[in-house]
Amino acid sequence: MQQVPLNDLRRSWLATDEEVLEICRRVVQSGWYVQGEEHARFEAEFAQFVGVQHARAVGNGTDALKLAMVALGCGPGDVVLTVANAGGYTSTAAAALGARCRYVDVDPRSLIVTPELVTESIASDVRLVVVTHLFGNLVDVPGVRAVCDVAGIPVIEDCAQAIGGRYGSYSAGSVGAAGTFSFYPSKNLGAAGDGGIVTTNRSEVARHVGSLRNYGWLDRYHIDMPQGCNSRLDELQAAILRLGLRRVTELNEARRQVVEQYRVAVAGSHRWIATGEGCATTAHLAVLVTEDQRDRQEVAEFMASQGIATDIHYPVLDIDQRGLPGPLGDTALEVSRDAEKRILTLPCFPSMTEDEVGLVVSALKALSG
Ligand SMILES: *Cc1c(COP(=O)(O)O)cnc(C)c1O
Repeated sequence: MQQVPLNDLRRSWLATDEEVLEICRRVVQSGWYVQGEEHARFEAEFAQFVGVQHARAVGNGTDALKLAMVALGCGPGDVVLTVANAGGYTSTAAAALGARCRYVDVDPRSLIVTPELVTESIASDVRLVVVTHLFGNLVDVPGVRAVCDVAGIPVIEDCAQAIGGRYGSYSAGSVGAAGTFSFYPSKNLGAAGDGGIVTTNRSEVARHVGSLRNYGWLDRYHIDMPQGCNSRLDELQAAILRLGLRRVTELNEARRQVVEQYRVAVAGSHRWIATGEGCATTAHLAVLVTEDQRDRQEVAEFMASQGIATDIHYPVLDIDQRGLPGPLGDTALEVSRDAEKRILTLPCFPSMTEDEVGLVVSALKALSG
């Protein structure tokens, strides 16, 4: 019998707060369902939350990546430099534009990219760099920008797992040329469906994304921009997300406290928690790095025997995905390849009970002892 699920959205603020039902009633009865008042307010509040001039809401996080890429001048045949261990969303967005990806390896402890690794991989043909704040661990974007700015290469921050994360004095999505976010239900700020947003300080990027999400129109019924599509956030999601935005800081803190207990439980063993500490992570996922593939299997089986769910984020590197165009350049990616066999995701969500966290902690201690 499963006692501790990986996540349980039936217990989330969204599923349990009566205020959400009031919001739904208000929006449905308003008679305005797409790009209305709630949508405009959400964009303004989101921009303020992240600390940028502009935010443009879109249909999902993958479209946020895709439209930000187009708005930053990326097109067919262009080269995008990114990581191969982040679930394939950037690669999917790039493939949709006809762009090709070259992959850079990651840091062995945090499993995110560093300025040093970007420096080693940057080349004159790179059109765009996408850094992913994987598991909510914040990449040193100022450092990455220092490398890319000299070469005139824009940086996109994929913040789908990092809403509300801070690194020093900056917040996720405020340093790159654009930040992209997802409101898929299981994210740190989840909607009752799909959603996404692009943040930027560049007014031309905001304008471009605003046009692309709405068929490429600048004027109504006039298709002015190529690569336009329909990718909008509906009024109901915008209204719900406005409420969620006021809770997300607290929700992130609850996640961090779960991860902190796991970290203490494995301290001194050969395994570690890849999810970072403090505000430099939003603890989107609690990822245990085991010793090797066999150790991971043993840990997963022991967890299952204790009724604890586990998963792998992510089991396939982008370079091995059959449905993606073949990668460009070096595909050795030693650290990414090694980590792919060792990572194991443990339960982590804001409404986990103390008993549930305690069960996982006991299991980790039993394994370490
Ligand atoms: C979820 C996610 C996305 C994609 O968001 P969708 O809304 O599902 O399209 C992109 N990047 C990362 C890192 C994600 O976790």
